[in-house]
Amino acid sequence: MTDSKKRVVIMPCSGIGKAYGSVGREAMYQVVEEMRPDATTTTCLSLLTLGDADAQALVREQPTITIDGCPSACAKVSVEAVGGKPATEFRVFDVYRAHRELKVRSVSELGEAGREMARLLAEEIAAKVDELSK
Ligand code: SF4
Repeated sequence: MTDSKKRVVIMPCSGIGKAYGSVGREAMYQVVEEMRPDATTTTCLSLLTLGDADAQALVREQPTITIDGCPSACAKVSVEAVGGKPATEFRVFDVYRAHRELKVRSVSELGEAGREMARLLAEEIAAKVDELSK
């Protein structure tokens, strides 16, 4: 984060090797880089778990939205483990449950359906960012 303005932290799980993890990261990029660049930021999940003071302070002090790719909920658990309390927790599976026609092609290539899933999730996240930014 480069300024002290309140920003909503979008914290996806690392999701390596899981297609829904890739969808969650893609949704995060869409929100942080394209949809709400002035209202959001992100950090690396590994920094939280490795004890990085700046990353931990960020999720403790700013409203934080977690995105998880499977029930292990690594983003939510990691934020809570350092004293943060997610304002909202998104699960990629919930998007799939609402849109079962969308089948992600693979971890490395989401395909048209995976990109659409990420876009739908990003829109939900952006709406929540707007609420939290009021
Ligand atoms: S929540 Fe699931 S997909 Fe995401 S990092 Fe944890 S184990 Fe991987």
